[in-house]
Amino acid sequence: MNEKQRLDNQQANSSDKKSAKDYSKYFTQVITAPSLKDAKKRGKEEVQYHNDFTIPEEFKGMGEGRKFYIRTYGCQMNEHDTEVMAGIFLALGYEPTDRTEDANVILLNTCAIRENAENKVFGELGHLKALKMEKPDLLLGVCGCMSQEESVVNKILKTYQQVDMIFGTHNIHRLPQILNEAYLSKEMVIEVWSKEGDVIENLPKERRGKIKAWVNIMYGCDKFCTYCIVPYTRGKERSRRPEEIIQEVRHLAAQGYKEITLLGQNVNAYGKDFEDIKYGLGDLMDEIRKIDIPRIRFTTSHPRDFDDHLIEVLAKGGNLMDHIHLPVQSGSTEVLKIMARKYTREQYLELVRKIKAAIPNVSLTTDIIVGYPNETDEQFEETLSLYREVSYEIAYTFIYSPREGTPAAKMEDNVPMEVKKERLQRLNNLVNELSAEAMKKYEGQIVEVLVDGESKNNPDVLAGYTTKNKLVNFKGPKTAIGNIVKVKINEAKTWSLNGEMVEEIEPAEVK
Ligand code: SF4
Repeated sequence: MNEKQRLDNQQANSSDKKSAKDYSKYFTQVITAPSLKDAKKRGKEEVQYHNDFTIPEEFKGMGEGRKFYIRTYGCQMNEHDTEVMAGIFLALGYEPTDRTEDANVILLNTCAIRENAENKVFGELGHLKALKMEKPDLLLGVCGCMSQEESVVNKILKTYQQVDMIFGTHNIHRLPQILNEAYLSKEMVIEVWSKEGDVIENLPKERRGKIKAWVNIMYGCDKFCTYCIVPYTRGKERSRRPEEIIQEVRHLAAQGYKEITLLGQNVNAYGKDFEDIKYGLGDLMDEIRKIDIPRIRFTTSHPRDFDDHLIEVLAKGGNLMDHIHLPVQSGSTEVLKIMARKYTREQYLELVRKIKAAIPNVSLTTDIIVGYPNETDEQFEETLSLYREVSYEIAYTFIYSPREGTPAAKMEDNVPMEVKKERLQRLNNLVNELSAEAMKKYEGQIVEVLVDGESKNNPDVLAGYTTKNKLVNFKGPKTAIGNIVKVKINEAKTWSLNGEMVEEIEPAEVK
């Protein structure tokens, strides 16, 4: 199909053949802008499950002769959303490219968790302006969590006129329609539903790897931690039905995938929204562990919803990995209260005790925020003491950064930035010390490594991860890629291990 035929086809099939002039009318009738106020009102409407996603006939071929490029920022949820959007692009006939210069459509799949992440996106939009001026037909889009923020959309409308489309996290399945609108319109197309979002099954996915895969088990979050924008940008908690998840994992196992990670903002709340069945993450893991796939992980956990049944199931081991990422955020009950984490220091430590009793070899990692508004020295010391007590193997540490629209952003803060930086440094020293100690214990041990591929820094060396998610670099044959192999560790570094392969333990089956 040539360019003219394609445009004719789109025009003929567009339900609204509008001119640029009457676009504003269309905008108010059909397209909604994001609103934090609406997002804060948790609707009582039931989540709708849609199992009938298809590419509308009139859009098939829309991408012929065109290329797409997606840049992803942020967490695994975003990475996985990119896989879904890539799947939709391919179904529309587009080809992927890894060069922005060659792309006909560029999407920035954004993250709103920290101001820094947002600034990177605005910087990138600035860079892309030159390309857009060179190639006026290029479509430039912003999607992901930033698009759900009113202030971001307003800023883009005002300052980044080179953007052609903005769409939200609940609108990904509408990508064909949004692209179609963007081709036809002279105005910026904005489609961001503040509505809670439904569960859409059958979306195509172009997975990035052939060894590890992500599987969404739920969307959204109802926890409303006072610093976090996610409950507003991702909507309320909605769980996928267990049968859909189990079918997807079975399919991945049949395709030869070796590891799956079950994804959600708060996976421990899985199933709480079901009205017809009592079914939680423990039940789901108990089913999935019976599937013939070597490694199963999940992220991210919220300690409040981590229940005994899940611990009991995880203790069965096998393909359920002995690593749990359990964000604590602070060791002070008072700070946890202000954060609205809904657990105390003691409750968290009791959970850790139960997990360690049931899974003695478990590796625990965490996330910590330092310098929360008005955090005192004593409260910070409690974080350090909790860190030692739990003896985490790694932590992701951050200085608190306010997010507009969250309750914490309105709090007065009497902690100077210098103090926050000093606290972060002291915490990081402790993190490094305990990480080095934990890594040292591996020296001389033989560990099982799922081989991802060549090391990023040296193509003669292979790299992969242990069951506890430790990065291992070692010399071995390229045929080991995609396999689980045994590696003897001969050197521990702070963040990785070096070793030599001692035995390949299963034949390569990755298709
Ligand atoms: S549990 Fe808290 S930190 Fe995690 S996504 Fe929900 S609100 Fe944000």
